[in-house]
Amino acid sequence: MSLPNKDGLIGKESNLSDSSAFVQRSAPEVEDKADASLTSVALLELLQSPACLLNGAGSVTYLNAAWRERAGLIEAGEGHLSLAHLIHPEDRYAVLFQFRSAITTGDRIDFECRLQSARGAARWCLLSLQPLNKGMEGGCDDWLCAGTDIHKLKSREIDLERLASIQTNMLDISVDCIKLISLDGTLMHMNKAGCHALGVPEDSPFGMPWLPLLPDDVREAGEQALTSARTGVFARFPGRSVLPGRKAQFWDNMLTPVMGPGGQPTAVMCVSREVTAEQEALELLRESEERLAIAARVGGLGIWDYHIQRDELHCDESWYRIMGRDPNFPIRSIAEFRPFIHPDDVDRATEVKQNVAELIAAKRDYAITFRIIRPNGDVRWVRSAACLVQDISGTAIRAIGFVVDITDAWRGELALRDANRALEKEKTSLARQSLEDPLTGIANRRYLDSELARICIHASETGEAICVGMIDVDHFKAYNDRYGHMEGDAALRQIASALQSVAWQSDFVARYGGEEFAFVLTGMSEPVPILERFAAVVEKLAIVHEGSPTGYLTISCGCVVFHSCANLSPILLLKASDETLYEAKTAGRNCHIIRVAST
Ligand code: GH3
Ligand code: MG
Ligand code: MG
Repeated sequence: MSLPNKDGLIGKESNLSDSSAFVQRSAPEVEDKADASLTSVALLELLQSPACLLNGAGSVTYLNAAWRERAGLIEAGEGHLSLAHLIHPEDRYAVLFQFRSAITTGDRIDFECRLQSARGAARWCLLSLQPLNKGMEGGCDDWLCAGTDIHKLKSREIDLERLASIQTNMLDISVDCIKLISLDGTLMHMNKAGCHALGVPEDSPFGMPWLPLLPDDVREAGEQALTSARTGVFARFPGRSVLPGRKAQFWDNMLTPVMGPGGQPTAVMCVSREVTAEQEALELLRESEERLAIAARVGGLGIWDYHIQRDELHCDESWYRIMGRDPNFPIRSIAEFRPFIHPDDVDRATEVKQNVAELIAAKRDYAITFRIIRPNGDVRWVRSAACLVQDISGTAIRAIGFVVDITDAWRGELALRDANRALEKEKTSLARQSLEDPLTGIANRRYLDSELARICIHASETGEAICVGMIDVDHFKAYNDRYGHMEGDAALRQIASALQSVAWQSDFVARYGGEEFAFVLTGMSEPVPILERFAAVVEKLAIVHEGSPTGYLTISCGCVVFHSCANLSPILLLKASDETLYEAKTAGRNCHIIRVAST
């Protein structure tokens, strides 16, 4: 048997278009096989499709008309044309390899290859090689090679393969994991990204169940989605994949039923988009919100969020708890919030424009305190601090704030304020009492002493004149004795009040003791009119005193005029005026004496 040479050919090279390449067979061989060959040749000529006879070395012993025409050969005669010459160079080696296997076993074989053509492109054929005289040991000398033109079919197959390859490449380029799952849940195909995510080798023949490839905790969701997609309904579920030594990846799995021509699902396409980054961001946000919620809960803070343009209010559960209201009946706008605020505070607390303006002006967080009314009528004080969210242009979009119930602290503060106010009042009252005469209500001796000291200093500095005088009720002991002490007190009160009414703002009258009064007139050196008015107002009281020569209570007055107060003291001033009063008494009472102090 001849073996293929290094070019994959058996025998001598031939030019298909050159019919002289055929070499005539020798006469004895023709005679030995004449009958069989004649029958075969006749049959071959009848065939419309390419067919030939080959010897065990792969040389063509007869080529039928159909093949000759295709190959552009005139003679069918035997020559040095080998099977290899008739095959497209690209398929030649494969064909010869097949032929070699066949002649070893002596079995029929079929294979696809392209036949050389003198006109146009090579055409695909299904060549069937079958032994014509198989020996006992399996070898065979003569072979029938019959071809069936499968060019159309093969071209379509090649196109389909190319298309499938393009589609596979497209799928592999995708960063999404794309899987085709059969209705029974078997993974039919998966792109590169999918293989990578699920740890399946890229050259896997697939065919394994899809659900077991998912982590335990998402398998149930996957199963539900698959069940839905199987019935023709799109489904989606969040997934996760964890491979040893790799960070967990999160996926958004979308299962779309692949519908057949009859409108029935034939398979399920699962597209899984990685959402790990979004998931991690969401997780961070969730943790942050959780921390904020804990902080708010621990601190007893309510949180609100108000969208200014849309007038949308959102309050958290703590805020509802502070208000004593049910979060299932949400307060969604300022208008809905107003009825829960104390009427005295409602405008101030809900004046959005004003509050926003203050927030912007203050360029910092802004807080107000107001009252809310709980459903049971309880009034609670709350303090609400807010900050603004502005867009790029500086327009306020949202205000977000915290609310804290300050009722207890506020009540404590109010109580403290009240106590302070009462204490202050008490102090003032005590201070006044300490300087006030309890019987008459006018200034007492203590006040007189302190005022005299102040006036002395002032007068010595300014050099202005002052008058200091003493007034004594005449025959008062007798009054007491006749009308009783109570009447005496009443009379003293009337006289004190009358004297007081005469004093100017800068002047004052004080009860010096018993039935005696002292007065100071500042910036004055002519006291006569005042002294006369003192006497007149007492006279006007007309308090009957039958023990008095006039029949009424009268007063005596001694007054000293000091033009210069240098080196004077309150004691000296009072002593001088007391001496002058004594003179008035001596002079017969119901009169006044004025002396000018010599300095
Ligand atoms: P004279 O005209 O010389 O001043 O005679 P007099 O009686 O007014 O003077 P005397 O000093 O002898 O008496 C003063 C009296 O004033 C004695 C006292 O009973 C009375 N007296 C002093 N303080 C009070 C007081 O607060 N209430 C009453 N009802 N009487 C008082
Ligand atoms: Mg007296
Ligand atoms: Mg008296």
